[in-house]
Amino acid sequence: LKHLGTDIRIILPLYRMVSQSKIKLKPIIDDLKVPLGGENLTARVWEAKGIGKVPVYFLERDDLFDRPNLYGNAQGDYYDNLERFSFYCHGALRIAEKLSFAPDLIHCNDWQSGLVPALVTGPYVKNSVVGKAKTIFTIHNLGYQGIFPAKKLWITGLPRDNFFRMDGLEFWGNISLLKAGIVYSHAITTVSPTYARQIQVNGYGMGMEGILHHRKSSLHGILNGVDYKVWNPATDNHLPSKYSLRKKAGKSLCKESLLKEMNLNQSLNQKPLLGMISRLDSQKGVDLLVKIMNDILSLDVGLVILGAGNSSMQRALSRVAEHNPGRMGITIGFDETLAHRIMAGTDMFLIPSRYEPCGLTQMYALKYGTIPIVRATGGLEDTITPFNPQTGRGNGFTFKDYKPKAFFSSILNAVDLYHNPASWKKLQNNAMKEDFSWDRSARSYLDLYHATLKAG
Ligand code: ADP
Repeated sequence: LKHLGTDIRIILPLYRMVSQSKIKLKPIIDDLKVPLGGENLTARVWEAKGIGKVPVYFLERDDLFDRPNLYGNAQGDYYDNLERFSFYCHGALRIAEKLSFAPDLIHCNDWQSGLVPALVTGPYVKNSVVGKAKTIFTIHNLGYQGIFPAKKLWITGLPRDNFFRMDGLEFWGNISLLKAGIVYSHAITTVSPTYARQIQVNGYGMGMEGILHHRKSSLHGILNGVDYKVWNPATDNHLPSKYSLRKKAGKSLCKESLLKEMNLNQSLNQKPLLGMISRLDSQKGVDLLVKIMNDILSLDVGLVILGAGNSSMQRALSRVAEHNPGRMGITIGFDETLAHRIMAGTDMFLIPSRYEPCGLTQMYALKYGTIPIVRATGGLEDTITPFNPQTGRGNGFTFKDYKPKAFFSSILNAVDLYHNPASWKKLQNNAMKEDFSWDRSARSYLDLYHATLKAG
């Protein structure tokens, strides 16, 4: 957006992971007054130095944000998330006011910022700096709705009569900050065209389908992009050997090295090696994978998994790995550099998601010549087209029904094709040629910004 000429600024809470990172911060506001409930609290604001041309502001309030995690811990969500993110939303508007930065448009992401559109139409409507701003609300995952008890509404500073309504932020007797974003923003986006359609119907809409359908003329699907500065096998410093569309030799070195790293049999070098990198969560189709693990491993293939999340899923996957030494490797945890090595070192990449707003890993996999096998849903459906050996078109394998048999049969098709080197090469070339850069997404967002401003 900056490259396209937008004067864009980013506002984030000063989370512990930021204050303890290497990012250099410069104080810009010492005593910002931010309302929370009936009180005015004081906060400090910092600006990041040297991380690019876009100013990034951090709202500091250690009792709210200096915590080990962003939203919660093993016991669940932090009990005061409503306070934390009300403070953040008011804080963002107060920062703009204090800097006399009158935005044409405020682009809010997910429930954590969902109060902003409501505040701008309510308590801040007469504010000379932010009161006239248009708002856009982006849904990254409808599964996270920012739901809190109705009796805590006063914390937000929104008057009950105007806002606690069915056509407001009331949601089955509670309040939902996600719904606030959906209802009060001028336009809504989500991260793929298919997900934008799906969330208007029962099942995918998770209770928000009615309001989303009602707002369908303001609801747009814009695909996320890939940062090819980070995810490109030709420049990736995490890899033992770089490679590209024209010079693919390095990919087999990456495979050899990954087999060693994961303690897998070197004989797998000539066989299909399947990979998966994922949060271990029911959204990601891990239950489907667990059901067909033995079938997969009965084929002459290897399997590498990197994931963290649900503990019973972690156990189920680890158990299969224990029974298949040399054939299956698993790392439980979050490991960014290993993710790069798996992306490069495997031949096929599994994404059996139950639902998927956009999904990033299938787009990375394409660039690394690692063929995605995905459930055709949401952004996966928008980015992966089944390979047709007759026409030579397509970039992966897809299945429609959320059923173990359907998933397994698409894996069988992929394994079959792998043994036909000419077709596999064609497929791999198609994959590596795909371009899902952020430039495209940024242009779509900018078009939407202009259209929203023009709509008056
Ligand atoms: P979601 O945001 O729903 O988890 P996405 O596909 O949009 O799914 O993005 C997931 C991102 O997180 C990808 O960049 C992926 O590589 C990364 N990731 C997920 N799990 C792990 C893990 N255990 N270790 C390292 N990276 C991970």
